Amino acid sequence: MNPKERRLLDELERALAEGGLRLAYQPKVATADGSLVRVEALVRWAHPALGAVPPARFVPLAEDHGLIDDLTQWALRTALRQWREWHAQGLDTDVAVNISAVSLEQLDFPDLVERLCRALDVPTERLVLELTEGATQPLIKLMDTLTRFRIKGVGLAIDDFGTGYSGLIQLRKLPFTEIKIDRQFVTGLATSRDDQVIVRSVIDLAHGLGLLVTAEGVETVEQLAALRALGCDLVQGYLLAHPLEAHELVAWASRHKRRWKLLIRPPEDPYLRQRLEANG
Ligand code: C2E
Ligand code: CA
Ligand code: CA
Repeated sequence: MNPKERRLLDELERALAEGGLRLAYQPKVATADGSLVRVEALVRWAHPALGAVPPARFVPLAEDHGLIDDLTQWALRTALRQWREWHAQGLDTDVAVNISAVSLEQLDFPDLVERLCRALDVPTERLVLELTEGATQPLIKLMDTLTRFRIKGVGLAIDDFGTGYSGLIQLRKLPFTEIKIDRQFVTGLATSRDDQVIVRSVIDLAHGLGLLVTAEGVETVEQLAALRALGCDLVQGYLLAHPLEAHELVAWASRHKRRWKLLIRPPEDPYLRQRLEANG
């Protein structure tokens, strides 16, 4: 490891220990009626000198140098505690947490998650784990762990679908409850026939397997319309909301109810449309 990386890792370790990390939460809404179904927790690190360090920069570092389990547990605890608080405020939503494939190699991980849910008084059914395939670890190898989570009632989403190993055929064997179509396919939806065909097949097959489908990275009203027409269940992206601070969610939810009507019947005027899209 070069000295710069070493230093960043040390600083990350300190931030984790001293409360320097926080979670932002991005809503996922139902295409049917715009209702808030769940929020995805995304880690944020405001570095004192470097400013916001993106997770794509420090999560892999934590994975490679033994810090990921601490990070994962911190994220789970923080998100579950936050769920309790929202619940007390009458906000009814599930919560999704990103889990690195490295953490799944820990055999007692499902028990640990169950204990955390119990300690923080969150039903396991309200938690979804979002898993991305590691570069070297196809998810099929983690079958036992995944099954144990399902037995406990925890939901499992396969993240970035279409970019890893798991084809739809493999998916049949894995105990997932949800798939998230990667942003790259969503971006092309309005313009590329190929992307339309891919997204349509993924949605139809996933539904055939009884899975919920979320499209991520939805940024335009055209993409939203296409996804609704294709029967995609949930949408997430800057069009609906950027990742929010925990305390912003309640206000967002009431504003969103009114805005949804416009999103599904957007104004013809390109200027008004642009303004609508920019206000997510
Ligand atoms: P991801 O799980 O695929 O998360 C989606 C990423 O896309 C997030 O970036 C989110 O801010 C961004 N995003 C959401 N909507 C849009 C959109 O409409 N357009 C565009 N261009 N981007 C959008 P972020 O927060 O930088 O996270 C990057 C990745 O870091 C995540 O990808 C996830 O793999 C990982 N990550 C984030 N938080 C955690 C965590 O707590 N634990 C672990 N293990 N990984 C995390
Ligand atoms: Ca995710
Ligand atoms: Ca993703």
